[in-house]
Amino acid sequence: MAGKIKVIAGEMFSGKSRELARLVERALIADLAVAVVYPAFAARKSERDIVQRMMELSGRWTLTPIADGQASLIDSQLNDEVDVIAVDEVQFFSQDLPEFVKRWRHQGKTVILAGLDLDYEERPFGCMGPLLCLADEVMKVHAVCTACKRQDAFISHRLSAETDQVVVGEGNYTALCVDCYDRLQSTRLEPSPSPKLLRTKLTR
Ligand SMILES: [Zn+2]
Repeated sequence: MAGKIKVIAGEMFSGKSRELARLVERALIADLAVAVVYPAFAARKSERDIVQRMMELSGRWTLTPIADGQASLIDSQLNDEVDVIAVDEVQFFSQDLPEFVKRWRHQGKTVILAGLDLDYEERPFGCMGPLLCLADEVMKVHAVCTACKRQDAFISHRLSAETDQVVVGEGNYTALCVDCYDRLQSTRLEPSPSPKLLRTKLTR
């Protein structure tokens, strides 16, 4: 059977891991063998999300943290038995992940990929861009904006002043819609405001 690539993309708190687990559960009900992987260094967050969700499922599945998010390590652990490969937090994987995803599709496997589409500065995150191009199916999911609580969020806004692209930790982010994000940018205090100040501004 021909392989397939499905991508679930969205900001933080948008339910990506929940959707990934739902698709994994469907595959398990269909008696398919599923290999679930996530980057090891994001383990703390993943342990709350995908790991806990997997523990509620029965069937033929494996769950493996991948050191340094190296896509080649996923490939080296696969065998012919695996029907479905589910990857959580794809934005943290190495840039060669799309090449392996292509290979897996040609091998007839279903590949389900969940991750952040944008980083905190609105840039495509990691290899999410090429993965969206490769996908047969794309599902965009959205959190509710935490400031206005009316509109769909579009970005994981960083509350801390750190500037590295990767700063792990849910407490460092909040989900904002375009309007609230723009409002915050236009009134941003200089120099770097404290997270407490940002939170205060957002709730006004
Ligand atoms: Zn808003």
